[in-house]
Amino acid sequence: MYDPDQIQSICIAGEWRRGGGDVYASLYPASGEVVARLNAANLADVEEAIAGAQRAFETSGWAQKKPHERALVLYRVAELIRARGEELAQKQRLDNGKPILETRALVASAAGTFQFFAAACETLEEAITPARGDYLSMSVYEPMGVVAAITPWNSPIASEAQKMAPALAAGNAVVVKPAEVTPLLALELARICEEAGVPRGMVSVLPGKGSVIGDAITRHPLVRRVSFTGGTTTGRHIAHIAADKCMPVSLELGGKSPTIVFDDADLDHAVNGVLYGIFSSSGESCIAGSRLFVARALYEDFVARLVAGAEALTVGDPASERTQMGPLITAQHRESVERYVALGREEGGRVRCGGARPQGAHLERGNYYLPTILDGLDNRKRLCREEIFGPVLVALPFDDEADLVVQANDSVYALAAGIWTRDYQRAWRVARAVQAGTVWINTYKQFSASTPFGGWRDSGLGREKGRLGILQYMEQKGVYWGM
Ligand code: NAD
Repeated sequence: MYDPDQIQSICIAGEWRRGGGDVYASLYPASGEVVARLNAANLADVEEAIAGAQRAFETSGWAQKKPHERALVLYRVAELIRARGEELAQKQRLDNGKPILETRALVASAAGTFQFFAAACETLEEAITPARGDYLSMSVYEPMGVVAAITPWNSPIASEAQKMAPALAAGNAVVVKPAEVTPLLALELARICEEAGVPRGMVSVLPGKGSVIGDAITRHPLVRRVSFTGGTTTGRHIAHIAADKCMPVSLELGGKSPTIVFDDADLDHAVNGVLYGIFSSSGESCIAGSRLFVARALYEDFVARLVAGAEALTVGDPASERTQMGPLITAQHRESVERYVALGREEGGRVRCGGARPQGAHLERGNYYLPTILDGLDNRKRLCREEIFGPVLVALPFDDEADLVVQANDSVYALAAGIWTRDYQRAWRVARAVQAGTVWINTYKQFSASTPFGGWRDSGLGREKGRLGILQYMEQKGVYWGM
């Protein structure tokens, strides 16, 4: 796949060359082996990439192309991603250690996102607005110029496509800052964009430290918008810089999502859905259903079934199609998850399953951790309030719906929620009462590029995806034409 003895090039204003920063390695989370080496970008590279992006925006003709012409190029990006699907899925597996079945889905999602925003761009309607005098008045949209995409490590190719596709569809140049530990798939997307016909310089990819490279990109005066996905603390920092620059920003941040199981739920379905909601992606997912509320009447039975299900999950080699949970991203991150589980025990929680590293010689070199379920904690405890970003579920019983809704909403986060019930009136009532950017009823973690995604409160600002997702990368302009 990659040759670890060769230094990978990065993409700076259409030039493929070594970054000016230190050499570092992307490590395979399942074994610690070096997957690829590359130089991080340095501040001179940031300057060059952004100046080059501005030049490309002004001179390449991309912004002036008819939306239909840009769409043709972006449809081609989607086709190329699909044509190279298996290779990209394997590369994504090596870069962040997710099981191959998951990385195939991430690649499919990236292709679907480019296809969707190609269509959104060629069908975006502008309007003649009601006039109050002898003129024609119109509302039109313009690209912003250079925009930045800053992404995390948990589902890189999908997150990067989610920002690059609408930014390019809108006519902008985009500078991507991937997470330091997962730089490779953004570079693959940049190559594919170039091959599909996106003009050189319209895409740059600058791997490196967030506090240096991400910060410099965000502060740069030519960067007109930042679309950020990552932790809430970083998001707040970016929002402060944006406020100083009067720059629009969108923030997709952390979560502590409640999953609710009512006593009339289809239990087989709910057990599988809850397990998938928390343990897929090893729980390293902003939308992980990490707080579980179960109707008291079925609490013990349901938790016993969940524990049996969690213990039966296949944890191991991400390359195997049978694997349901791979390793965590880094050894340090696993230690953070372990500290949370220790804290849960100190706070009086009972570990119902997991709570340890799995045994087995084949797992020793990876950052593995067992699917873990705790209970005996109330919703005010830190394990129920803080994002762990790992395979740790806290289960709580509830007695009545009104109190349940109060507890579900009692969080600084409000990203997603799941509801399991056969009562359609209750499903609708609770879906409307729960404060969250996304609510799933009798399903979890389903996504469509056409449905807006984002969070309330500390989970973020703004929405990605959806037909109007392209508008966050455009400025609206009123035009008056005298008659
Ligand atoms: P992070 O905030 O540490 O890093 C995210 C990105 O920001 C990385 O590219 C990083 O290098 C960069 N960055 C760090 N400091 C920066 C700074 N000062 N200025 C500019 N950029 C900076 O997050 P992470 O650990 O990579 O990802 C995990 C977090 O992402 C979790 O909180 C998770 O919930 C969140 N997340 C949210 C969504 C969503 O859509 N809401 C999706 C995935 C992940």
